[in-house]
Amino acid sequence: MLAIRIHQFGPPDVLKLEEVPTLQPGPGQLLIRIHAIGVNPVDTYIRGGGYAHPPRLPYTPGMDAAGIVEAIGPGTRTGLKVGDRVYIARSITGTYAEFCLCEPHQAHPLPARISFPQGAGVFVPYATAYRSLFQRARAKSGEWVLVHGASGGVGTAALQLARAAGLRTIGTAGSPEGLDLIRREGAQHTLNHREPGYLDRIREITGYPAGGVDVVLEMLANENLEKSLGLLAMNGRIVIIGSHGPVEITPRQTMSRDSSIIGMSLHNAGPAELADLHAAIHTGLESGALTPVVGREMPLAEAARAHDLIMQPGARGKIVLLP
Ligand code: NAP
Repeated sequence: MLAIRIHQFGPPDVLKLEEVPTLQPGPGQLLIRIHAIGVNPVDTYIRGGGYAHPPRLPYTPGMDAAGIVEAIGPGTRTGLKVGDRVYIARSITGTYAEFCLCEPHQAHPLPARISFPQGAGVFVPYATAYRSLFQRARAKSGEWVLVHGASGGVGTAALQLARAAGLRTIGTAGSPEGLDLIRREGAQHTLNHREPGYLDRIREITGYPAGGVDVVLEMLANENLEKSLGLLAMNGRIVIIGSHGPVEITPRQTMSRDSSIIGMSLHNAGPAELADLHAAIHTGLESGALTPVVGREMPLAEAARAHDLIMQPGARGKIVLLP
């Protein structure tokens, strides 16, 4: 079978498409035939060698995929059967490949209305958005949520989840296409985070200082944390989802509003939180409330180009690789 292999950490060209031995599911394992693979920013951080939990070299990257159960290992306890459509939430062998092995808790039923490319955009984006909104920020219906960076995988997922839960939504993007996209995906107000004056507009929309934003989902905290602190309502919460460096803030801004800055890593979600978020995501995918946005499909052989593209501005949903 074909798989992307990384033999040393480094720039995108360390991603090599190689012929590797066919996988066989052992006891407690499922073999998945992969139809589409989701590319996430974290795949690039791991590839670059700067990630806190590095894999052993060589390895096949990727956490997200969608496909079909090809075979089930002896004695495996699973509700799935051969031929079932699934989305993958991490795996044993990596998802940038034609097949992967996974444990039963890593394979989840994919509703018929969701295509394989869409299914490849489920786990990391929706789990991150759900955990940030509901498990970390405890967002409630009627609250204002600002998705600060709404045009990418996590942002579009967050908008859909927020609208389904009755939150009032503001989204930002950095391009005209991104702004169109987030309007379609549930942002009631859309603003360009590269244009001056957009923070004033958010204060107007949310009635600051009497009101303000209740929950900020922050995709680029090193750029935005100080700015977002100045948008918050009383008891406002900022969830740090993404950050690419240090930032200076004015702590006094948190005192005047009893506000909270909350860290969030999907890596830290325990089994109970994962079970909770998968149940909610599955219901939303089935009902039509949640539909992943695929911005670009590319052949698996172009994984290096996908890693270049995902780090560039102008996001419009997910980048998906096709084996
Ligand atoms: P993505 O698809 O590449 O999207 C990146 C988003 O960031 C786009 O909406 C982009 O908007 C936006 N952005 C760029 N410049 C910005 C700025 N100055 N202010 C606000 N937003 C800005 O990535 P993703 O999958 O959605 O992930 C988003 C971030 O979350 C990444 O940093 C990722 O590493 C992180 N993440 C963290 C976790 C965790 O467990 N903590 C899990 C998943 C992802 P434009 O391109 O339109 O400008």
